[in-house]
Amino acid sequence: MPLSLDSGTGSFSLFKHPAQFHLFGDREFKGEGLEHGEGPITATQVHGDKILCLRDDGHGLVQEGLAQGELEGDGLVTDRNACFIAVATADCVPVLLFDPKRKIIAALHAGWRGSVLNIAAQGVTRMVSDFGSEAKDILAGIGPSIGPCCFEVGEDVLSAIEEKTPHKVDVIRKFGRKFGRKSETNRWSCDLPKLNRMQLISVGLPPEQITVAGLCTSCLPERYYSFRRDKKKLGNMLSGIMLR
Ligand SMILES: [Zn+2]
Repeated sequence: MPLSLDSGTGSFSLFKHPAQFHLFGDREFKGEGLEHGEGPITATQVHGDKILCLRDDGHGLVQEGLAQGELEGDGLVTDRNACFIAVATADCVPVLLFDPKRKIIAALHAGWRGSVLNIAAQGVTRMVSDFGSEAKDILAGIGPSIGPCCFEVGEDVLSAIEEKTPHKVDVIRKFGRKFGRKSETNRWSCDLPKLNRMQLISVGLPPEQITVAGLCTSCLPERYYSFRRDKKKLGNMLSGIMLR
């Protein structure tokens, strides 16, 4: 069963709005529930911060481009109805955004590189600048990804996060020390979901409107693929959202 914020672990009720359908897929997901929509629309993900806006202009040109593999990006934003936009992950963080007031949605792929590039916050910024959303209205769901229990990184990743995350220096330091803990082997545990949550808060999302699944892909082999655990790419999970 794919994880839906509607049927998750209790604190997910904020995402129950009838104007959207979303899910965080697992290994078994075969597209159930998507029959009545267009898609899944996915872009070729490159661990960057490019966000593609699919406008509901009736032409579907962008979608055509995506189908031809001409467009790359790690985030999709749309106001298009019945269009399931999605990202594929196998450890990286899937972030879904929903503005129930203006009916705008986003799907973002945030691995550590995307997180360093602040892609979750950039998704919010695009919803605001291109579609007139207000950050205070946006609901966010941060799906299953590799957790701090299993995501061990070296100083290079930690420094990249500390240096390039666009927060004031003191906040970054506090950030790093807060979510990173140094082990005897000079490795660090990194909490990507938490980093994404903080980035969303930094651009104005009320903390109570952000739901974190709290499920580690590496700890749950029956349920999820994990690139780090499996040491190779066996598959990935689709997570997405659709307006209806
Ligand atoms: Zn884990």
